[in-house]
Amino acid sequence: MNRLSLRFVLFVLIISGVNSQADLSLTLTEAGLFSPVMDEPHHSPVRDHVASLLWALDEVSRLCRQLDEKLTSIDYNECIAADLQPSGAYSILHRSIAYKDVQPHNGKATGRVLLIGGIHGDEYSSVTIVFRWLRELEAQHGGEFLWRVVPTLNPDGLLMPPKKSQRMNANGVDLNRNFPTPNWEEEAMDYWVNRTRKSKRRYPGTAPLSEPESRWLAEQIDEFKPDAVISVHAPHGIVDFDGPLVPPDNLGPLELRLLGTYPGSMGRYIGVYKGIPLLTVELESALRTPDQEDTARIWRDTITWLEDRVIVTDEPSRAEQAREDGSTAPDTDTQESINN
Ligand SMILES: [Zn+2]
Repeated sequence: MNRLSLRFVLFVLIISGVNSQADLSLTLTEAGLFSPVMDEPHHSPVRDHVASLLWALDEVSRLCRQLDEKLTSIDYNECIAADLQPSGAYSILHRSIAYKDVQPHNGKATGRVLLIGGIHGDEYSSVTIVFRWLRELEAQHGGEFLWRVVPTLNPDGLLMPPKKSQRMNANGVDLNRNFPTPNWEEEAMDYWVNRTRKSKRRYPGTAPLSEPESRWLAEQIDEFKPDAVISVHAPHGIVDFDGPLVPPDNLGPLELRLLGTYPGSMGRYIGVYKGIPLLTVELESALRTPDQEDTARIWRDTITWLEDRVIVTDEPSRAEQAREDGSTAPDTDTQESINN
């Protein structure tokens, strides 16, 4: 099958709503492209090969289609316009862990920021708002920073079951308890058994980084080397912070409240162990995305905090620049201690 035919088949798949590998085989058969041997349905190497080719050909558009179907707040075209790139890493159910890098506006980053939505699959608003902010970022060409944006780190938790999403990934692991914090082996299981009473929603997994989603994120910490990480959750309606910098007092309507960390949590791993500032944005509702005004306020305050605290080169922050220019930048106490 040549590339044009592949594209045609892909088009047919998209408009006919292929949602699973079983659907895919069925659609290919209906299209007359394959004649499955009925008594040996699992032994057709050609079909399997083409199916896997098609599967990989446009995994991001498949993800976008599923997001569109799942969330009324995410439109297929908006998702496609976000131009996410496949990372080459996959969830347990072989969904792409897609991301987008946004370059700084003048080509020289004053810091690197990793922005993550949807680590918990049932926190819909955390996915939608990251798409909204990604659009904002593109419009501003990244501002001062180089961004790596991951709108849905746990696609299976969000999309796997036909109706109900779940906090955990497809293996039933809470990814936010699966990071390799010191003494994970002793502490994570003990915490789960004795403190959470084996809550299914807090299961840390059989070993640190046992899951492909957390493994990929840990790789990003080592390879992308962010100067700050922002992880979006819901529904506590607060800002939490772990790591070495002074946290913001609030982001829009969300006030600072330090919740502490847990064995295997991103806060303990990234903020405490790796020493990278981790801002945890807890939206007020898991189902309802903040309105336009609050979405913009939270974003604006996040950017202000980053510009004041996470500038890692000698270049002056926008706030410092404004002071040097003699303009009337708002004088907040955060401007006094730029982190270098
Ligand atoms: Zn969460």
